[in-house]
Amino acid sequence: MLEIRDLHVHYGGIHAIKGISLQVPRGKIVTLIGANGAGKSSTLRSVAGLVKDRKGQIRWGEADLIGWTPERIVRAGVALCPEGRRIFPQLTVQENLMLGAYIRCDVPGIQTTLDWVYELFPRLKERSWQKGGTLSGGEQQMLALGRALMSKPDVIMMDEPSLGLAPLLVKEVFDIIETINGQGKTVLLVEQNAFAALKVAHYAYVLEVGQIVLEGPGRQLLDDPRVKEAYLGG
Ligand code: ATP
Repeated sequence: MLEIRDLHVHYGGIHAIKGISLQVPRGKIVTLIGANGAGKSSTLRSVAGLVKDRKGQIRWGEADLIGWTPERIVRAGVALCPEGRRIFPQLTVQENLMLGAYIRCDVPGIQTTLDWVYELFPRLKERSWQKGGTLSGGEQQMLALGRALMSKPDVIMMDEPSLGLAPLLVKEVFDIIETINGQGKTVLLVEQNAFAALKVAHYAYVLEVGQIVLEGPGRQLLDDPRVKEAYLGG
């Protein structure tokens, strides 16, 4: 299980995360929803080791990831698919994917994971020699997810994977999240599409200005009048 205990994040004088605690049990999909600036990305980036000024505990099994480098965290099985995709436009699809495996040396294992990623995303296989920058927005999102999966993580954290995608592609992204989870990956999902996220999530947390204000099973929060009012358009 991944567990955050009393996490605080500061950016200079800004106290962005004010003591949040949450649990992501193995094999589950957990989502964080909340308005812009609530601290969702900061939470994921803290777990990934990308935020300097973080305090509290980030338990992963017996370990506390606070103070670990991003590379060590990836090696421990926790990967981040960042907001805005951050693919390399001049590299081919396959080169982008292989970068996700940079911490691994087991060549046959890397090939097996690559085959699995291509099975999950047949369109990436068709375009494996195409430059990343020539892909559509939806395909770039798939590439970013595929790249994160290439490190063979136990937990994959996804920051706004459906952002800016057409409705059909949004559905595709959420189907993929369920498929990945069905194949044993634990998912920590940050989404602005609260409706879709709550539908797939086993458990959900609502973040407001750096604090958790509500939590419960995803389906239960879908029916919560406070969530309906604030995040589901009434
Ligand atoms: P969004 O959906 O807009 O990304 P979010 O819920 O993910 O929002 P964060 O990006 O974590 O929220 O931001 C939380 C707070 O921390 C905001 O007030 C934001 O302005 C601030 N913040 C985030 N990153 C930095 C940074 N690098 N430097 C200074 N302030 C930051």
